[in-house]
Amino acid sequence: MRKHIVAGNWKMNNDLAQSVALISDLKRQNQTSTAEVMIAPTFTNLWHTTENLKSSPIEVIAQNMHFAKNGAYTGEVSAEMLKSIGVNTVILGHSERRAYFNETDEMLAKKVDTALESEMRFIFCFGEELSDRQANTQETVVANQIKKALFHLKASAFKNIVLAYEPVWAIGTGETASPDQAQEMHQFIRKTLRDTYGDSVANDMSILYGGSVKPANAKEIFSKPDVDGGLIGGAALKAEDFYAIVNAF
Ligand code: 13P
Repeated sequence: MRKHIVAGNWKMNNDLAQSVALISDLKRQNQTSTAEVMIAPTFTNLWHTTENLKSSPIEVIAQNMHFAKNGAYTGEVSAEMLKSIGVNTVILGHSERRAYFNETDEMLAKKVDTALESEMRFIFCFGEELSDRQANTQETVVANQIKKALFHLKASAFKNIVLAYEPVWAIGTGETASPDQAQEMHQFIRKTLRDTYGDSVANDMSILYGGSVKPANAKEIFSKPDVDGGLIGGAALKAEDFYAIVNAF
C-alpha cells in the first residue's frame, strides 16, 4: 500500500523567529486525514525544528544535501550532518536547484547514492519546463530525468524513495497543472517504473504533485488515482492553508 504524503517546502523563507512562530501555528492545527506530514525548513532552522517537533507526527526534512560524505566543500551540508540532528529525509533535485545551482542528472545520481548509503529517505523532484510542454515532449523529458538519476538502482532501493512531479511552469506561478494533466503524467511515471522494475515497485511508489497546490485545488488534484500527495511551496507558509491541504485527502 502506498502512502499519502503532504510535504511543505519552505524554500528560502522564514528566519528564526518566523519559523518558531509557524511551528507553533502548525502545532495548533488539527489533522483529520491520515496523510504523512513533512516540513522542509532551511538548514539554519532544522535543529530547533527537529527539537520542537520531537513528539509531533510532523517529520522535519531537509531541502538539499551534498553528495560527499564530508570534506572541503565550503557552504555545503552532508547526509551524516543531517542525520546527526534527527533529519532522515531530504528533498533532492528540486527544479530551483537544477535551474539556479546547476544540479545535473549526474550530480543527482551521486546524491541519490549517498542518501541511500546513509540510510536516508529522499523525495526526488523532476518536471518539464513550459517549452517542453509546448513541444509535447514532457513525457520524454520526465522519463529521462527519472532514468538518469534512479535507474541504476536495485528494486529494493525504491522503498526509500518518494517521487515528486513538479512541472516547472506551475511552480510559484499560480498556474496549476489541471488534475487531468497531473493524473496523466503520474500514470506515465508509474508505467515507466513498472516497465523496468515491475508491479510492486510501481504500485508501492508514492508520487506527489507540486506546483501551485492550494486549499482551493488540493481536493480535486488528490482525488486522482495516481496522485499520492503534494509538495507544497507558497501555501505551506501559512499553517491554516497547509493543513487545509493536508486534510484534503
Ligand atoms: P509552489 O507551491 O509555491 O508553486 O511551489 C511548489 C514547489 O516548488 C514545492 O517544492
